[in-house]
Amino acid sequence: MTQPSQWLRPALLAAQAYHVPDATGYLKLDAMENPYPLPPALHDAWLAALAQAPLHRYPDPQAHALRQQLRARFDLPQAAEILLGNGSDELILLLCLALAGSGRPVLAPEPSFVMYRLLAQACQMPYVGVPLQAADFSLDTAAMLAAIAQHQPALIFLAYPNNPTGNLFDAEALRAILAAAPGLVVLDEAYAPFAQASTLSWLADYPNLLVLRTLSKFGLAGLRLGYLVGAPAWLHELDKLRLPYNINVLTQLSCTFLLQHTPVFLAQAAQIRSDRAQLAAALQALPSLTVYPSAANFILLRTPPHQADTWFKQLKAHGILIKNLSPAGGLLQDCLRVTVGTPTENQALIAALQAMV
Ligand SMILES: *Cc1c(COP(=O)(O)O)cnc(C)c1O
Repeated sequence: MTQPSQWLRPALLAAQAYHVPDATGYLKLDAMENPYPLPPALHDAWLAALAQAPLHRYPDPQAHALRQQLRARFDLPQAAEILLGNGSDELILLLCLALAGSGRPVLAPEPSFVMYRLLAQACQMPYVGVPLQAADFSLDTAAMLAAIAQHQPALIFLAYPNNPTGNLFDAEALRAILAAAPGLVVLDEAYAPFAQASTLSWLADYPNLLVLRTLSKFGLAGLRLGYLVGAPAWLHELDKLRLPYNINVLTQLSCTFLLQHTPVFLAQAAQIRSDRAQLAAALQALPSLTVYPSAANFILLRTPPHQADTWFKQLKAHGILIKNLSPAGGLLQDCLRVTVGTPTENQALIAALQAMV
């Protein structure tokens, strides 16, 4: 009998599946979702727009209307091309597939978004993680430049702001990396709605830069839409690897419709930014908790030594699900990450923590 283990790649057999905990019944502050649903009138209008969806037809393979809408709404540079992904995760995979080859590493700071490492490894690319500075999670520019010189990475990922640390890297450090990189640099702006900072205008200066965005943190995580922006010379080649109908009819229609109402989402993002400041202040008032500054819709916390697992479990017992980063170890030892929720949800989190610490 043929055994799966006889044929499956050893690295795959050794890998773990990306684990998403069951959040049923919990106050969900673990996944950086926007806590606000569509306003009822917009929800009704969206359903009416969906009623025309031709489910018996394949979607537009180029998603023309949606790409046009993204261009207009997010003021994307005229000279840039746009490539759509089923979430930005799919675009990270596409980038790895396109650049994979022997002796072609992927490089990223550590800690950062885990998909960079997981998807590089899925494509059998060596992965180089360069530690951030322990004190404030800023880029160690000298270490980054030394690692770039040594490993000659084909692909560098930098999340701006960074997940799970929440900070914006120094712009001069990013420029130094862009200038030194022998290959492609992807600046991942998943949290752009909360950072009010963007490197889109840098595309004109750096032909080796692509900017990655997503609608997930904007309020549309369920639709799975990511987009990559940059020079046609890169994106037209990457497009050859994209599966023909990767953005389904419902996502194309929904996003094209909902992006006409960006002020709704921008107002939600503004609310979340203001609630982030309040939540950070309330967390800071708790004894023995280190609160890191955030330009995203989440906040990184550090508990006293060896307390993170206990706090995480106690919050869960209170019905609140957050992210325990402590098992990742390294710079994330004793760290927890909380998503900014509604004011009521944030209050519930603070009340639960007050009862614990
Ligand atoms: C959440 C997140 C993404 C988004 O992934 P999607 O597949 O678009 O939902 C991308 N990059 C970073 C750094 C993130 O934190």
